[in-house]
Amino acid sequence: MNTVEAALKERIKELTCLYEVSSILVHADPEDHAKTFEAIAFSIKKGFQYPNETEVHIEQGTHAVKTGILKTKNLIGTAIRLFNETDGFIRVYLNDNSLDFLEEEQQLIDNIGLKIGDFLERVAIKRNETLLKQQMQHADRLTIIGELTAGIAHELNTPLANILGFAELLKEDLENNTAVASDLDKIIKNAIFSREVVKKLMFFSRAMPQEKKLVNIVPQIKEALNLLDATFRKENVRYAVAIADEEMLLHVDTVQLTQIIFNLIINAIYFSPPEGLVSINVNQDKAYIYLEITDEGPGLTDEALEKIFQPFFTTKPTGEGAGLGLSVVHGIVISHNGSIEAANNHQQGAVFKVRLPK
Ligand code: ADP
Repeated sequence: MNTVEAALKERIKELTCLYEVSSILVHADPEDHAKTFEAIAFSIKKGFQYPNETEVHIEQGTHAVKTGILKTKNLIGTAIRLFNETDGFIRVYLNDNSLDFLEEEQQLIDNIGLKIGDFLERVAIKRNETLLKQQMQHADRLTIIGELTAGIAHELNTPLANILGFAELLKEDLENNTAVASDLDKIIKNAIFSREVVKKLMFFSRAMPQEKKLVNIVPQIKEALNLLDATFRKENVRYAVAIADEEMLLHVDTVQLTQIIFNLIINAIYFSPPEGLVSINVNQDKAYIYLEITDEGPGLTDEALEKIFQPFFTTKPTGEGAGLGLSVVHGIVISHNGSIEAANNHQQGAVFKVRLPK
């Protein structure tokens, strides 16, 4: 083969490789970069002058692929850049040291590096857009529900107080009539339950005043756990507490902190199997306090994972839960500029992670 013909053949191989890489990227699964990089690496290997002596190594983020064993330092490389920052590389090795790379081969991998960078940027932008859209929809929904519930709670507060007040007056008047007194007790009990629901609604819609101060939350947490000890015993659920330090200072409304702990632990107990273990971990670093509550219950369904912090979402039987506990917790955490996450444990059960800024 004469040199012109050989050179032409190489250009065709390189162009074919470039075309192949473009189509790999067009059809790539955005969730499986390793597979994409592997296909590209083999395509590059084929596109080079001595495919049998050529090995390709691509690394980006947590992904690394190699077409074979890299035996030499005879290599060329190019960077993969993402949003103007180097975030990986392509390296091509010639395992026979007496062979050389072509100038066009450097251009080829430079080109492919750019294409991969473009592709990764597109994936990142798309992912961000989807996430943002979901967050906005979620926030919109929560705001509307929040406003509605605040209105309803406000409207119900006065009539409820009246029902309770007049029922108590009547009970005093009819003290000797036990049958009526027992009926009145039921009215009072139900009115108190409804008042608690209204209180939670107002909490959720943040109509309750907040009093933040700098406190050591360790005694606070221990006290809450002391109060919950009886419930753990009654429900035959075990618990393990790990508090990293004796002093953890936080700007917090202490009543609301107790409310976070109570709501999360009561749910964990409710969903625990007999003898199940609830783990309570409290950690800190310079900027945050981390509270993690794990149980060994059934965990969260896909629907629960999506709706768990929405008011009125409950899977408990009627009368046992209003579906407000976690939306209250969510409201409190957000009003402390923190974050909360619900997930499934890799083994069994649910885990709730709260992060509160100091
Ligand atoms: P409620 O307890 O009144 O149902 P919550 O807002 O506290 O209201 O909880 C909402 C729902 O989230 C529960 O009904 C349940 O389906 C789910 N959930 C909460 N905590 C857990 C948990 N630890 N394990 C499994 N599911 C849970």
